[in-house]
Amino acid sequence: MRRFDLRSLRFGDASEIWRRVPVEVDPFVYGGLSYEVPDGFVDLELCAARVGDSVTLTAEFETPVSGPCQRCLGDAEVIVEARGVEYVRHGDSEGAEEDEEGYVTSSIVDLGRWARDLIAEELPPKLLCRDECRGLCAACGADLNVEPEHRHDEA
Ligand SMILES: [Zn+2]
Ligand SMILES: [Zn+2]
Repeated sequence: MRRFDLRSLRFGDASEIWRRVPVEVDPFVYGGLSYEVPDGFVDLELCAARVGDSVTLTAEFETPVSGPCQRCLGDAEVIVEARGVEYVRHGDSEGAEEDEEGYVTSSIVDLGRWARDLIAEELPPKLLCRDECRGLCAACGADLNVEPEHRHDEA
């Protein structure tokens, strides 16, 4: 699922509703390299809390993100804990000025885009296979993790 319709929530007497939603997350480019979540899905926990005419949406999930190490291009994986909050005013659908950054249009929440942005915010500045990754030789591209003694004779 990528889009969630808030109208499917039936608050009744409750002021808070929880839903566990599998959300499809497209692979994304970070630092020029491509990263993805397992099977392209995150298990997102969505909480909708009603206060008067507005609804506060909280999205929370934890997911591994994997792709190439930004130093040696080997396999790298980080665990991302993401959390975001969106406020939805009731009746926003009637041409009210739309919040361009927002993830909610009318009653539809764009969970796919939201989840992706939340992951991007939580990624480390450099995604590495391990902290002490030695990277590749700048001259020939040899993997310095495999050949720690690797060097070129100075000309
Ligand atoms: Zn590495
Ligand atoms: Zn080299």
